[in-house]
Amino acid sequence: MPPSALRDLRGRLDLCCINTATLGYREPIAVTAQRVAAAGFTWITPWRQEIDERSPARDADAIRAAGLRVRHYCRTAAFAHDTAAGRLAAIDDNRRALDAAAVLGATEFVAVVGGLAPASRDIEESRAQVLRGLEALMPAIESTGVRIALEPLHPFYAADRSLLNTLAQAQAWCGLLDPEGRYFDIVVDAYHVWWDPLLPVSIAEAGPRIKALHVCDWLRSTQEPLLDRGMMGDGVVELKRLRALVEAAGFDGLVEVEIFSRDRWWREDPDEVLRTCRERLQTVC
Ligand code: ZN
Repeated sequence: MPPSALRDLRGRLDLCCINTATLGYREPIAVTAQRVAAAGFTWITPWRQEIDERSPARDADAIRAAGLRVRHYCRTAAFAHDTAAGRLAAIDDNRRALDAAAVLGATEFVAVVGGLAPASRDIEESRAQVLRGLEALMPAIESTGVRIALEPLHPFYAADRSLLNTLAQAQAWCGLLDPEGRYFDIVVDAYHVWWDPLLPVSIAEAGPRIKALHVCDWLRSTQEPLLDRGMMGDGVVELKRLRALVEAAGFDGLVEVEIFSRDRWWREDPDEVLRTCRERLQTVC
């Protein structure tokens, strides 16, 4: 697909979103929201550790007062555990997050499903626990109106962070749990999926299930795969080609920056990070 078919992001920050991980959770959400708005953005995706889930209305008010709207909410507690009590606690925790997401006005709660149960080597059983956990949240999805967006993570994270590792697997899980597409969507994160030889096919098959596009970059000489993500344009991912694929599949949502970068961008002045995001979104994404 030629780049000309892409939506033009120049002057269209309303098509973009800042995931607060990009700023390293260094400040209260009210301050972060003010900075994001001052940089010209209108959408934000906050993380649970920034929100007081016992009274999320206060944080929702602060975000609104800054002039922003919440797009998604990050992210689920891990589903696989060694005990039934642990699994139930995770489901309860995720229900609370769905309630908070509804108060914040988020359209989706992002699922990073978790890795193996802590004392287990049984990958099939842990995957089955994840599926049962997701299934158990369906009534809460229905009652809150907040859907769950499944985010496949790079297979590097299979042991400790996610047993959902490719778009094809996410699509298969959606088909299994929710063939009519009422509960579960899919997140495409450039960092996690760029290497996948089946990417074009998987994106086409996921089609309108794709409700979020996370961008950053994979640095050629990445120091470690969790907290050394690159700024868009600094690495090896052809972000415009990825966006062309998801837009050709029907995606018309926001291009969301999500950069975990402990030693580089999290040390930078947050306003400078946002200025750089703004510039790169409009040029290399
Ligand atoms: Zn992501």
